Amino acid sequence: MDQPDISNMLNWHSQYKEPALFGRRIIFDVIVPILKNLPNSFHTEQIGASFNNIPIYKVSIGNGKTKVLLWSQMHGNESTGTKAMFDLFQFFINPKQNTKLSHKILTECTLVFIPILNPDGAAAYTRKNAQDIDLNRDALTLEASESKLLNTVLKEFNPKFCFNLHDQRTIFSVGEDKLPATISFLAPSVDEARTITKGRKITMSVITAMNAVLQKIIPNQIGRYTDEFYPTATGDNFEKAGHHTVLIEAGHFKDDYDREEVRKYNFLALLAGLKHISVGKFEEYKPYFDIPNNEKLYLDIIYKNVFLLDKNQKVDVGVIFKEELVDDKIVFKPTVTYTDDLSNYNANIYIDKKGKILKNKEELVAMIEN
Ligand SMILES: [Zn+2]
Repeated sequence: MDQPDISNMLNWHSQYKEPALFGRRIIFDVIVPILKNLPNSFHTEQIGASFNNIPIYKVSIGNGKTKVLLWSQMHGNESTGTKAMFDLFQFFINPKQNTKLSHKILTECTLVFIPILNPDGAAAYTRKNAQDIDLNRDALTLEASESKLLNTVLKEFNPKFCFNLHDQRTIFSVGEDKLPATISFLAPSVDEARTITKGRKITMSVITAMNAVLQKIIPNQIGRYTDEFYPTATGDNFEKAGHHTVLIEAGHFKDDYDREEVRKYNFLALLAGLKHISVGKFEEYKPYFDIPNNEKLYLDIIYKNVFLLDKNQKVDVGVIFKEELVDDKIVFKPTVTYTDDLSNYNANIYIDKKGKILKNKEELVAMIEN
């Protein structure tokens, strides 16, 4: 099949980037005008509303036999998947140099998207919904209205494949160089024993294809999430019910606190996954296990060479940003997390304090957090 090498499409992403979306906080109001202006090839329909009565939509495109369901922001403050989803819409609206790929996907697949499944959490910039429920741990009880909606779409549409789009914190690293885990994948388990079922092998083969594309662009920045079985998690239960469910975690890229760089990789990963599904060959799954596990060895800042008088020793100081919504803006608040020898860690920024003498940890915390 004459199709482009997706790894070459990185430079073209700017042509597909939905200009109305930017930064970390993507709320329902921002996507409404985009949804309203989608061309007739898209079918847009309200499926219900959140606990606080914000509408939730599904968007369908394509008319192929393989059904694929994709949803984003089931954790309200994890918006990179939403941005990548709308970039994908732009790709289908005007694929430019890639008409063959677009045509192939839309004739082989029917795609249903649910952007911002948790609009209350998006508004409040929280992981959980307005009832303080984690939608990704609500797959069995379906306590939240948003979980019920997702489940109804799942039952009615009965997709062969699902994409569950999340963001992960900056702390995740990959490999010996402890580079940030810019994208992480998971083929969720269906039991405590983490059995490699026939279904999971197919999910793993989709991830294998996505990883192959990303390794060419951001080598050694792709991680594999733990496949510990979570009995109440969405992905685990969807996979168990026979829907091949791919989890994508968009993470950190050097200096990319708006997650606009990782947005590209998330877009390309989705495109690579959909291309793989539209071609329909799922035998190759073993390279999934070559993707290194995520570790937590990345920090936002490491201060080197601080001398603490009360301990009479030199320490490194590890700082993690806590994100808070203040006056409708995301503020990154530096928080001292470790005072130790941090030579085993990597950080976005290193600051050498050149032996600066401080009385104790309290003085240190005051210096960094104020
Ligand atoms: Zn999440």
